[in-house]
Amino acid sequence: MKIFTCGPVAMYPGVASVRSKGITYFRTPEYALLVKRCLKTLSSYIGNDVDESMIYMACSGTGAMEAAVENSTTARDKALVINGGTFGHRFCELLQYHNIEFESVSLKWDEKLEAKHLEPFEGKNYTILFVNHNETSSGQLYDLNLLSSFCKKNGMMLVVDAISSFLSDELNMKRTGIDLLIFSSQKGLCCSPGCSFISVSERMKDKMLNKERKNTTSYFDLRDYFLNMKRGQTPYTPAVMVIYEICSMIEQIEQTGGLNKWLTNIADKASYFRNKAKQIGYTVPSYPISNMLTPLSLKNIPADYIAEKLKTYGFMVSPCGGDLAKKIFRVCHLGATTKFDADLLLDALLEIKEGIK
Ligand SMILES: *Cc1c(COP(=O)(O)O)cnc(C)c1O
Repeated sequence: MKIFTCGPVAMYPGVASVRSKGITYFRTPEYALLVKRCLKTLSSYIGNDVDESMIYMACSGTGAMEAAVENSTTARDKALVINGGTFGHRFCELLQYHNIEFESVSLKWDEKLEAKHLEPFEGKNYTILFVNHNETSSGQLYDLNLLSSFCKKNGMMLVVDAISSFLSDELNMKRTGIDLLIFSSQKGLCCSPGCSFISVSERMKDKMLNKERKNTTSYFDLRDYFLNMKRGQTPYTPAVMVIYEICSMIEQIEQTGGLNKWLTNIADKASYFRNKAKQIGYTVPSYPISNMLTPLSLKNIPADYIAEKLKTYGFMVSPCGGDLAKKIFRVCHLGATTKFDADLLLDALLEIKEGIK
């Protein structure tokens, strides 16, 4: 089965093979050095040059979302969430769970985020904004410059879940004024799941380090992570093998021309697929879309039926849940899939449209 799913994605063979070398113990100077180098490169990929500004932990992406919520806020914060789908909704649930006062900017799944949506929240003493850069459930890529200006104007901090935009779309924490950014191993990095990363601005780090402990759970108390990272370690056992995979992936990115080349390749993959899909009669939504994926729909045939039917051709794509199940399905452009694979998938999509199989 070829996977075109929105994470995990098809791993590159060179990366997948690092596991065959076997596991090592991690509380060693060698492992610490490896981690420090790895985090330094990853920090450069997101434009954060603040020293010791990144930590990582063994958890899925949602773990990093939760750590972000509980560590970036105190009972005095008033949060705003961009909620246009599953992942925006998840931030709302996490804030609610942790008793942080919040309001959400609710968007319909296909409604483009614009300045007018933020206007009602101007000058209302909000202190922090949470957004999923790419709302993976619809693929909408929110305008971070718009959100950043809004935050600056209103004296708010900006927290960005870049789990599905990291290594697909351009990101620069410093230039954009992002205070906290998260990503994880199984999306843009095309590695196994299990490792999540948190990168912070200077002022966010200060806020976190000076926070009262009662607001955070023990496992996710980031003060322990920042303290341990001074010596390249984590308070608890990390996903050791995933770090080896990530190091191998970084090597691959560097050897194939570096970050910008990597981003250009993904953008090319996405636009090649989108254009062809449109040519054979599929519809791509009109809101801005991340290079990570393409949401598709077809008049007269339910999206979940198409996703299911594709399995008989040997392709796995991502169906949507809830209200979107019949409306769109998503094709991911990350990972070790080639133009040839994309052509075969498009052939299958054409056959399904024509009712051949
Ligand atoms: C995949 C994803 C997550 C994390 O999902 P997990 O299943 O917990 O790894 C969070 N946010 C976004 C935007 C995602 O795409």
